[in-house]
Amino acid sequence: MPSANTLRASAIAEPPTTSRKAPPVVSSSRVSQITPAETYVSPAAGSKGTVVVAGAGLAGLSAGKYLVDQGYTPLVLEARDVLGGKVAAWKDEDGDWYETGLHIFFGAYPNTLMLFEELGIQDRLQWKNHSLIFAMPNKPGVFSRFDFPDIPGPFNGIWAILTNNDMLTWPEKIKFGLALIPAITKGQKYVEEMDRMSFSEWLKMQGAPPRIEKEIFIAMSKALAFVDPDQLSATVVLTALNRFLQEGDGSKMAFLDGAPPERLCQPIADYIERAGGKVLLDKPLEQVLLNEDNTVAGFQIRGVKGQQPEIITADRYASAMPVDILKKLLPSEWAAMPFFDNITPLEGTPVINIHLWLDRKVSDVNNLLFSRSKLLSVYADMSVCCNEYKDDQRSHLELIFAPAAEWIGRSDEEIIAATVKELEIIFPEYFGANARDPAQVRKYKVVKTPRSVYMARPGMQAHRPDQKTPISNFYLCGDWTMQRYLGSQEGAILSGKQMAEAIEADRAVRPRKAVSSAGIPASFNVRQIR
Ligand SMILES: Cc1cc2nc3c(=O)[nH]c(=O)nc-3n(C[C@H](O)[C@H](O)[C@H](O)COP(=O)(O)OP(=O)(O)OC[C@H]3O[C@@H](n4cnc5c(N)ncnc54)[C@H](O)[C@@H]3O)c2cc1C
Repeated sequence: MPSANTLRASAIAEPPTTSRKAPPVVSSSRVSQITPAETYVSPAAGSKGTVVVAGAGLAGLSAGKYLVDQGYTPLVLEARDVLGGKVAAWKDEDGDWYETGLHIFFGAYPNTLMLFEELGIQDRLQWKNHSLIFAMPNKPGVFSRFDFPDIPGPFNGIWAILTNNDMLTWPEKIKFGLALIPAITKGQKYVEEMDRMSFSEWLKMQGAPPRIEKEIFIAMSKALAFVDPDQLSATVVLTALNRFLQEGDGSKMAFLDGAPPERLCQPIADYIERAGGKVLLDKPLEQVLLNEDNTVAGFQIRGVKGQQPEIITADRYASAMPVDILKKLLPSEWAAMPFFDNITPLEGTPVINIHLWLDRKVSDVNNLLFSRSKLLSVYADMSVCCNEYKDDQRSHLELIFAPAAEWIGRSDEEIIAATVKELEIIFPEYFGANARDPAQVRKYKVVKTPRSVYMARPGMQAHRPDQKTPISNFYLCGDWTMQRYLGSQEGAILSGKQMAEAIEADRAVRPRKAVSSAGIPASFNVRQIR
């Protein structure tokens, strides 16, 4: 049985989806007929119970970690042959890593930083100078910096704005500062209320000069949620500003020192397994089986790579899958329930991650850069920023291409050609007809995620569900579920933690009986982990 210890490179594929069929309603009265096959986990004496979690992105792994901490025995099942979901990465034929996304960790990620500490891997976060660096579209090759001095927030942020003279005039800076006051002083309630409008509308309401949006917040919106500010809920940017400005190190950024599946996900999986849980790859949830009372009776797992399909039963069940996939797998008996019906408008945003390996060094900036170009969002030279990708001679650019709705269906060649065209503005010395020292692209990778983080349009906050559902033995986590950190690594990790807490809070609720053998085709292995 492949376990998380046998990570392998894989082709880029959307996690498999299955059509929404009404599941068989199986009787819960004949449990004694089950002859379970080998079990994946054997709860130790004193275990508070077993939980099967579908999805081993950061949310599912975090859920597994905090469930074992609380005394439960989790089994985390991942559809693909790689851990991490949106932080998954693969090695190419030369042994170079390529990732689903360029990933940044912020100082304002308390749950993530705590998780790194709990795993004893905090030295894997490579912290950069506390600066936000923007390319200047009208001055090719020039960068403008907001440098945050080492003084408490929000004063370091105010200082960073006031001392930047490239992007904003003094009257603009003053108006910008005044516009930001509610973002700094008003609490989460205000931030949530602003979900009724886009960030563009919020800036107008605050009387911020239009150039502020153009100069700063198009780049920031694309970096935060892969869309422009007129498409993005004000809550998203205000949440970020609130954390960034209130916490002294809030906007300080770190890169992981290598590929996330190995450097972050595997340590979480190892932690879970050391504590008696299990993390398995190649285990796609195909169908949620129900008892007569609509509680979960078992997870039906598709048999992939020659494995037998199986039904796994446990005390409790959870989804850590993306919202688009959960919607497809929702049993029809649940879909009409107001709680589940309410998530219908949530859907993932398209985004593209690009890797360009160049034949020379084009940058020595050891930090994230905001491209402020039409097609690109943020980028970094990973040969400088990330230990494992270090190369003193040649650059390895990782770039986010967003908004990507119009591009997601186009060929890799078209996307690379458009990207290189934009690099003519950012690196005129190395790209374009007038380049003094033309750089060659040695190789590239284009990783498309047609449905990534949930599209945070105005009004979506009300559709994000709690981790506890109306089904007494079924829970949810994932960056799109309700937690205070939006669609992000921090949001995913926090959602998993909140789900573990919700399960613990329900401890007194008696788990439902497992699926019976009635109605189960003979071709299924039944593994009863309770
Ligand atoms: C290009 C890009 C750049 C990003 N940059 C940043 C950044 O800089 N900073 C930041 O904080 N965040 C960033 N994010 C967001 C961050 O990656 C996500 O918010 C987070 O990783 C989501 O974790 P998750 O566990 O909620 O979901 P996912 O990572 O989507 O995990 C869901 C898992 O469920 C699995 N699954 C699907 N179907 C099934 C099934 N049927 N059975 C079992 N398993 C299934 C999937 O394969 C996947 O592993 C970025 C995302 C992208 C795409």
